[in-house]
Amino acid sequence: MTRAYNFNAGPAALPLEVLQKAQEEIVDFKGIGMSIMEVSHRSKEYEAVNDETQQLLLELLELPAGYKVLFLQGGASTQFAMLPMNLLTAGKVGSYVMTGSWAEKAIQEAKLIGETHIAASSKEGVLHIPALSEIEIPENAAYLHVTSNETIAGTQYQEFPDTGSIPLVSDMSSDILSRRIDASKFSLIYAGAQKNLGPSGVTIVVAKEDLFNNAPKTIPTMLRYSTYLKNNSLYNTPPVYSIYMVNLVLKWVKEQGGVAAVEKANREKTDLIYNVLDNSGGFYEGLAQKDSRSIMNVTFKLQTEELEKEFLALAKKNGFVGLGGHRSVGHLRASTYNAVPYASCKALVDLLDEFKRTHG
Ligand SMILES: *Cc1c(COP(=O)(O)O)cnc(C)c1O
Repeated sequence: MTRAYNFNAGPAALPLEVLQKAQEEIVDFKGIGMSIMEVSHRSKEYEAVNDETQQLLLELLELPAGYKVLFLQGGASTQFAMLPMNLLTAGKVGSYVMTGSWAEKAIQEAKLIGETHIAASSKEGVLHIPALSEIEIPENAAYLHVTSNETIAGTQYQEFPDTGSIPLVSDMSSDILSRRIDASKFSLIYAGAQKNLGPSGVTIVVAKEDLFNNAPKTIPTMLRYSTYLKNNSLYNTPPVYSIYMVNLVLKWVKEQGGVAAVEKANREKTDLIYNVLDNSGGFYEGLAQKDSRSIMNVTFKLQTEELEKEFLALAKKNGFVGLGGHRSVGHLRASTYNAVPYASCKALVDLLDEFKRTHG
């Protein structure tokens, strides 16, 4: 068996051990003679998966009591609308830090629901995260929304703002559990699972239990956070297999030594790549401003489009996938999510070195 050097941006690499465990359990989950896909979501077998997955996530995020995990569908893109539907009530304003494509999509949806505000913004044409001191939050803000990691630009917050009594909300789709953070700073965190948590199909929301007390009564049932909260994410049929896979991934994170160990590995992986880019004498160039560099998505370029095409062809020939940049920005991108092994990153820097030697 040869596994690809998988640098896909999402859906993305899953840990081999997790895939093997899933394979082992796919025809007979814990001796029930069926897979977890084939039982009722009201069964005690599924309920155990549901509860344990929530507990594991709260534990790995090191959250105090008062937070709840919800399992939703529709991806992070649905959260762009669901968040303002539930929290952006009359007389309030949704405040957003504009850092790139994903923040932009979040704010566009909020504009459909209510009044919005830009708390701070990246400078035109610069891939960076604005300084925390630039963030201005209006007094009547329903929340401040940040995008902890801009997957397309390859930028990531290095620290998060203090918002006092105003709820801090983050789209953490592409960096949840990639590093230790003070998650208790956030009132709500959401993430599509398909970058760092599992396969697509489930969207995770972690929120303070009392956040939804004032949600408007007119929101459709399935778009109301309180529906999921009151029903332990079992109001309707959840994406059971995706949640089961998230369960296995969270156990894998624990086995690695928890988030601190995963963070250390992520930093080693990306240091390796950034070092090669920075010491290439301008042959390669990182796209993100150094103080905003992501440990999940390394964006970079070569000096001509021709060279980039040649590099991608060589990469493909050598078993690498997913190294093309997002269609909106082009160039190159290596997504180094938690499940991407160090060996893949080592193979990538060897390839970068070789390509420079033969084309530099
Ligand atoms: C991938 C991604 C999204 C979109 O997620 P979907 O689950 O496809 O809707 C949103 N935000 C960020 C930061 C992402 O990386």
